[in-house]
Amino acid sequence: MTQLELAKSGVVSPQMKAVAQYEGVEAESIRHGVAEGTIVIPANTHHTNLIPCGIGQGLKTKVNANIGTSSDFGNVDTELEKLRVAIECGADAVMDLSTGGDISAIRQAIVAASSVPIGTVPIYQAGIKAIDSHGAIVKMTVDELFAGIEEHVCQGVDFITVHCGVTQSAIDRLKQQGRVADVVSRGGAFLIGWMLYNERENPLYEYYDRLLKLAREFDVTLSLGDGMRPGSLADATDRAQVEELLTLGELVQRAQQAGVQAMVEGPGHLPLNQIEANVQLQKAICKGAPFYVLGPLVTDIGAGYDHITGAIGGAIAAAAGTDFLCYVTPSEHLSLPDPEDVKQGVIASRIAAHAGDIVKGVKGAQEWDNKMSVARKKLGWEEQARLSLDPELSRRVHSKHAPEGKACSMCGEYCAMQLVEEFLGVSAVKC
Ligand code: SF4
Repeated sequence: MTQLELAKSGVVSPQMKAVAQYEGVEAESIRHGVAEGTIVIPANTHHTNLIPCGIGQGLKTKVNANIGTSSDFGNVDTELEKLRVAIECGADAVMDLSTGGDISAIRQAIVAASSVPIGTVPIYQAGIKAIDSHGAIVKMTVDELFAGIEEHVCQGVDFITVHCGVTQSAIDRLKQQGRVADVVSRGGAFLIGWMLYNERENPLYEYYDRLLKLAREFDVTLSLGDGMRPGSLADATDRAQVEELLTLGELVQRAQQAGVQAMVEGPGHLPLNQIEANVQLQKAICKGAPFYVLGPLVTDIGAGYDHITGAIGGAIAAAAGTDFLCYVTPSEHLSLPDPEDVKQGVIASRIAAHAGDIVKGVKGAQEWDNKMSVARKKLGWEEQARLSLDPELSRRVHSKHAPEGKACSMCGEYCAMQLVEEFLGVSAVKC
């Protein structure tokens, strides 16, 4: 039985217990959330060294890091290094989006090395295989697409992005309204090309039951992709995006009825004032299914700093109820990320996730900040480093200019913390 089927039948699985322990909540509340479809635990039965992670309502906001080769760059060693850095920096999940080299071998190595859930987008590899064997993605057969998905799930991938909501009617809406940036989802673009060339419905939509059967067999969580996500602020919350979301809401329901866990992916590029509405729309249409946003980026002009534009959007999205943030790195829109980009992206997204958790009232979130404030008040530099998201950076920056006394070099002898304690007798001891 899948986690969802177990939860529905009243069973608290070892995975649910592990998630409850990590979150500091009752196991029964995790079981209830999984049964309701508001929490997913991506845990492929073939991913043997996985430490289960829960994503959804009432839980800490989770962060995903995308890694993977491109057709131009990368190999298994660099991807394993990115995986190591991502996990070390606190990523809760990693997606392998490899499109170059021996894709199957790279994925196998990543799954074997990963203690966090691994996600993939199977249509990338299926499309590349179709180019190799038929000369074009549009010549891919439906069986080849499903064989590609089967290979991923058999290898132990915990969640797969499947762009099932890119239907002919969503394409019609896209054509009618027009867009500035058209389609920026690679998987969405592959499918749209295939559908227009073959004049057929999206096979992931038409044969959704076949997909559900595969996912159920290995307890793979479906991450229902947003092929129509806006790639420009000008295209945010347009009719094509909303049309796709309506379909995804129906597909979440069908997945849950089939015993398959499902979450829903979302934008993309969104102005600040549309983020909360997007979260509410997704939550209402998808009956509380976990929401997984890609950023969102709050401006289109942050090239080189898009981990910041993504973190601003991510914080607002998380505070509004988003459950899972896909990181954005400084390389976004420019280049394949390297391990340092991965580090910057994960930490930026973790700041966003934590800022959201404080607003959500997630257990332990505010307490973490309180401990940091006490350590600051006490001028406890090692404690501050230990409590920070990047302890090594905290120590390095603090020791950049060796101070004379206990204070740091920012204000030196005029340290407010010290002055208040010395002259007013106010201390942080009560904390
Ligand atoms: S010197 Fe200034 S910045 Fe440094 S701890 Fe004291 S008040 Fe804070």
